[in-house]
Amino acid sequence: MAKTIDVIAPFLNEAQSASAFVGLLEKLESAVAERFGMKMHKILVDDGSRDDSVERFSATLSGSWEIVRLSRNFGKEAAVLAGLDHSRGDMALIMDSDLQHSMEISLKMIAELVADPEIDVVYAQNDRREASWRRSQLARLFYKLINSSQRFDIPQNAGDFRVMRGAVVKALTQVRDKRRFNKGLFAWAGFRQKAVLYTPDNRASGTSKWSRLNLLAFSLEGFTSFSVIPLRIISLCGVLAALAGAVYGAKVFFEVIFYGIAVPGYPSLLVVVVLLGGLNLTLLGLIGEYVWVTLSESKDRPVYIVRDIIAAKDGEPGQGATRP
Ligand code: UDP
Ligand code: MG
Repeated sequence: MAKTIDVIAPFLNEAQSASAFVGLLEKLESAVAERFGMKMHKILVDDGSRDDSVERFSATLSGSWEIVRLSRNFGKEAAVLAGLDHSRGDMALIMDSDLQHSMEISLKMIAELVADPEIDVVYAQNDRREASWRRSQLARLFYKLINSSQRFDIPQNAGDFRVMRGAVVKALTQVRDKRRFNKGLFAWAGFRQKAVLYTPDNRASGTSKWSRLNLLAFSLEGFTSFSVIPLRIISLCGVLAALAGAVYGAKVFFEVIFYGIAVPGYPSLLVVVVLLGGLNLTLLGLIGEYVWVTLSESKDRPVYIVRDIIAAKDGEPGQGATRP
């Protein structure tokens, strides 16, 4: 029977939504105590905020909490790992601090996990329809490609918003990938997982930190961490191009031998040069991406660095004591 639950929430410049998020946490804490008899510990990770988020959080948080301050912005994936590393509870709930992840869904996920001892993870799956048809097709293609020839499936539209048992947390903290693709790692770790559908709320304030370019880079990161499919596709293109070249070459040869047709060379040459040049560059860039991942892993730098930890002083509200 689970007794304690850690809430892990990374934040970057969320001063605007700090007090609302603390309010949500308080409500969640009493609901969790009432419904499941569990004690809650809050682990907020400051991912290098440049506003006064930390001050606002430490002034308003109550009960049992700590704020792990990273030395700079390491990215949400690293911040989540920092939170997991500090988790000691029987269960852990990961949620965003911008109020897009609601209390109701959190409670629903916890209830599912408490009710069924056979399940280890309950994750929230976004049921949003993509804004455009093109985008949704792109997303589908992404998951289809990344999940092909894999022993595990990365579910579509499932992110960090999830509840898991301590054993899963432990498993995840053992994975020290430098370039982290959490969606993939969660699936890779295995365990028995269950989905709960949800629609994310609108951001309380500010804007998402994900630009279109970020998303593209992130997708590429997914591939380079979890799949060789792009390399295989490009290799296949190479083989097909070579075959096409051979067929065309044979055709030209026979035309010259049997019909004496002088081959108009310029356009065909140009097509071949540009096509193969493009293919070569694509493959080279792609190999570079994989080499870059290998390089980051072999440098073996820590995934994040903790500047200090501010923690509740004997449960007094708003009294943060800093420890290095
Ligand atoms: N976040 C973070 N580090 C970053 C970017 C974001 O800790 O480098 C936090 C952010 O404060 C929020 C959560 O991660 O609590 C999700 O970020 P965001 O809302 O930008 O992403 P989205 O909801 O659009 O996926
Ligand atoms: Mg958000």
